[in-house]
Amino acid sequence: MAYKSLEKYLNSSALCVVADCCIVPCRDILTRTRDIMINVDLIRQEDDLSHDGYFISIHGLFLFLKGDEKMIKKLWEKCVDFHGHECPGLAIGYKASQAAKEKLKIDFSKDEDVVCITENDACGVDAIQVLLGCSFGKGNLIYRGTGKQAFSFFHRPTNQSIRIVLKPFQVEMGREERQAYLLNAPVEEIFEFKSPGFQLPERARLFKTIICENCGEGAPEHKIRLMEDKKVCLDCFKDYSREL
Ligand SMILES: [Zn+2]
Ligand SMILES: [Zn+2]
Repeated sequence: MAYKSLEKYLNSSALCVVADCCIVPCRDILTRTRDIMINVDLIRQEDDLSHDGYFISIHGLFLFLKGDEKMIKKLWEKCVDFHGHECPGLAIGYKASQAAKEKLKIDFSKDEDVVCITENDACGVDAIQVLLGCSFGKGNLIYRGTGKQAFSFFHRPTNQSIRIVLKPFQVEMGREERQAYLLNAPVEEIFEFKSPGFQLPERARLFKTIICENCGEGAPEHKIRLMEDKKVCLDCFKDYSREL
């Protein structure tokens, strides 16, 4: 968060532009990015370049300042490095993350405060892992396999959530053209914004490890079954069900 660094510039002439912008709504600021670029540059020098914009709060107004093109390019490159190649699918995840950041006023999640429920396991999810810190290992990336290009984001501390759904493409485009379109178009043009129709699962819990009495491998308590008086793992458990 750039808030601390920003204070340093409160008396500098450069910040006048920011202060001026602070009395206009957030949406207007996004169209006036160039006016505030000089300030973003100043703030950025002390930042780790992991953000594509900044939230600042002055006089109770919470504003999102978009970063410059160089910084945005850097974030895209980070996603490409992680994913292995650039493609339109990765661009979908990149823009969905950007939209989530703007709409929920969130940023990279070092803990589990931001949770993503992805409805597909395609390229775009990789950008979300890089930009928002939602990962399988941290328990804040959850798979819900409808196969749709839809991503829901939850912010636990504020209880806010949003479901971001890719709009069907209206025109035929080549791969490169589509990628460029996705990266440059406003998020409102690319996505529909809805409320998730499902609840967020509880935070990841730690469970006691139980050793399977059949194979000797350990598994968390909630994955253990009872079979012929023995505690067994799911691999060893022979399911019995006559339910239809
Ligand atoms: Zn890909
Ligand atoms: Zn076993």
